[in-house]
Amino acid sequence: MRTRWIVRMTSAAGPMALVCGLMAGTLFLPVLATAKVRVVATLPTLGSVAREIGGERVDVEVLAAPGEDPHFVDARPNLILSLNRADALVVNGLELEAGWLPPLLQSARNGKVQAGAPGFLDASSVVSRLDVPGGPVDRAQGDIHPGGNPHFLYEATSVARVAAAVADLLSRVDPAGAPIYATRGAALVARLDAVGRDAAARVAALPAPRRQVVAYHKSVAYLVRWLGLAEVATIEPRPGIPPDPGHVAKVLSTMKATGANVILQEVYYPRSTSETLARLTGARLVVLPGGAEFDKGESASDHVKEIADLVIRALGSE
Ligand SMILES: [Zn+2]
Repeated sequence: MRTRWIVRMTSAAGPMALVCGLMAGTLFLPVLATAKVRVVATLPTLGSVAREIGGERVDVEVLAAPGEDPHFVDARPNLILSLNRADALVVNGLELEAGWLPPLLQSARNGKVQAGAPGFLDASSVVSRLDVPGGPVDRAQGDIHPGGNPHFLYEATSVARVAAAVADLLSRVDPAGAPIYATRGAALVARLDAVGRDAAARVAALPAPRRQVVAYHKSVAYLVRWLGLAEVATIEPRPGIPPDPGHVAKVLSTMKATGANVILQEVYYPRSTSETLARLTGARLVVLPGGAEFDKGESASDHVKEIADLVIRALGSE
């Protein structure tokens, strides 16, 4: 279904190429080329997962620019074109992209990648969710996600589950490649599991007071679960609401009372409050990359390992 004949050699490349091709004997047999499966991922880490599993069979595009806040991606019109041509779409889900993806997806008019279609994967559907609100949700609580905390791509086990689901997704849209996707998917899952076990063991070797962290946003919950950390305070008073002086004073006294010595925040959040708290308490500020460096070819397992290494180094240093 996704094969096409290569005929460009005679028309576009000109007679010399034809002669060379004849001399090499390649034109006596029709050359079957496999058109690549077009995969779109909303976020860089999801893109890295798809690329690692799809390998040569896929072309992966990522909608969020590197370092862009996934809550507020700039909905550039060219993203509609990417979605229009896609064979498969991987989204984070849990409404992380609710502010920008739905209108793009609607404008793309591509039935293959709409929610519920075989080419659509909501990554959050396969992870074990945290912070699922018990009661009704309203905006006064801040940017609360009704289905649970959407920031699971910082956790090795969650990314491993997503990797397995991406392998299934690619097999659905490109059944001929299923054995390859299964093999590469299993290999990625194994790498992520190894990263997960290793990092958790390193943190477990630290004394409990060294495992305490303060987060800027409610985005480290899964990292906290993975590494066995304790999040003693959050600098945002409510998710998505910038810190106010009264709340910052509370965070400061919590840090002093607990001895929490590490502040975690993503690269896309303003740093001044975190820096002030770090200065007043002697804590270390760790600025985490928002996602894998997809454009530079970084793998999802290297990205997750980098996150863990940054955190563990800060927790462990004097
Ligand atoms: Zn969030």
